[in-house]
Amino acid sequence: KNVESCFSHNLLTILTIASVFGGVLLGFILKGSKTEWTKREITYVQFPGDIFLRMLKMLIVPLLVSSIISAIGSLDLSLSKKIGFQSIAYYAATTSMAVLQGIFWVMLIHPGKIMRDDEKMASVHQETRPITTVDTILDLIRNIFPANLVEATISTYRTVLIKPNVNTTAINSTVHSDLTLWKIESEMVEGSNVLGLVAFSVAFGICIGKLGPVGKPLLAFFDSLGEAVMLMTNWVIWLSPMGVLFLVASKVLELDDFGVIVGRLGMYFITVVFGLFVHGFVLLPLMYSVFTRQLPFKFTLNMGQAIITAFGTASSSASLPISMACLEENNKIDVRVSRFVMPIGATINMDGTALYEAVAAIFIAQLKGIELSFGQIAAVSVTATMASIGAAGIPQAGLVTMVMVLDTLGLPADDVSLIIAVDWLLDRFRTTVNVLGDAYGAGIVAKLAENDLELMSNESAVESGKVP
Ligand code: ASP
Repeated sequence: KNVESCFSHNLLTILTIASVFGGVLLGFILKGSKTEWTKREITYVQFPGDIFLRMLKMLIVPLLVSSIISAIGSLDLSLSKKIGFQSIAYYAATTSMAVLQGIFWVMLIHPGKIMRDDEKMASVHQETRPITTVDTILDLIRNIFPANLVEATISTYRTVLIKPNVNTTAINSTVHSDLTLWKIESEMVEGSNVLGLVAFSVAFGICIGKLGPVGKPLLAFFDSLGEAVMLMTNWVIWLSPMGVLFLVASKVLELDDFGVIVGRLGMYFITVVFGLFVHGFVLLPLMYSVFTRQLPFKFTLNMGQAIITAFGTASSSASLPISMACLEENNKIDVRVSRFVMPIGATINMDGTALYEAVAAIFIAQLKGIELSFGQIAAVSVTATMASIGAAGIPQAGLVTMVMVLDTLGLPADDVSLIIAVDWLLDRFRTTVNVLGDAYGAGIVAKLAENDLELMSNESAVESGKVP
């Protein structure tokens, strides 16, 4: 049975990896077969990929809530605290490592200066939008405390600007564009408030654990819900090669002139990807080896499908079901750790995003010829970390929270337009590193908690009379 399941895992990983290349190939073949592809036709090509994505998204909320509640509820409070503390320490350490590393490379390579020297930057008129760091931090905190749980599954808070509702014929256009007339409001926007759901589930899991026997039925309910969702995930996983194939192919079709786009922002692109590579494939595996005393190759290979799904979907939330399945089934990580560490990690631990935020903000400053002081760089490292925590695990969420990092440098939010052209692709790379970071974290924490978990399992086996 083991040989059989090992074979099917490997087969699936190979198929998923092949689907990325297949997708690129299919995209180019389709592109070459016709002079122009309309939006509607591209939607048709994307359709199978879209269905795969929808299935993953469907699993997120029940998986996240049930996993966290059942993992925390089943651990005793001191062990929950210990695992929680270790996870937070890991997140903090690796995110800072990513930010510092990003800053180091962007200061060393100086991509902004290179681009500025290469071409005369057109000075584009930009309207400064008054959304500040404080607004973004308040959004982050508001999201941690959802006022309504049902609402939190479908919407999240974001500070938005509302155009003044004035009669355009009565007021001349200069007054109309006066930014003081815009209303700043925290509105509910579409997309689950994953952060709020995580916060609620952690608190609820602790309560269930504290209730003791009274909490048992609820614990059993969430345990069983988690198992059912994981089973469903195991079915959906088999669709990942098809899903990734069509997601990638349709993206290739959408691209106009890829070479030109990447060419202009080439050095910036290379800086981010290089930093991400060093972080995800050198530093994190090294850290994993140090803590677990094991070579990282097998662990990383076992995460193959999660890595490709992250690349294909550009969403750590959508990849969560698959990351958890890879950890539990291929890497045999204790479910009490994976179900605790992964959903929280997918929401707040984004090393790739943190690195990118720091590089991008400093790149924009370089592009504009702004010399950064040490204090400003320190401020970038703090806000880049916050921005990565605040970014949702959805495509290009990092671009939105980037406003906060730009604001600390006194740069207008509209400056994100300077890097937008390559962002969809960088997003895929950073999401891959985000997912890898969570996975290594689960591996490390599982190792650190190994003895405690075993002790707890033995104790509960004695308690339930299974072992004399
Ligand atoms: N797409 C990323 C993620 O899901 C977030 C980001 O935009 O950086 O992890």
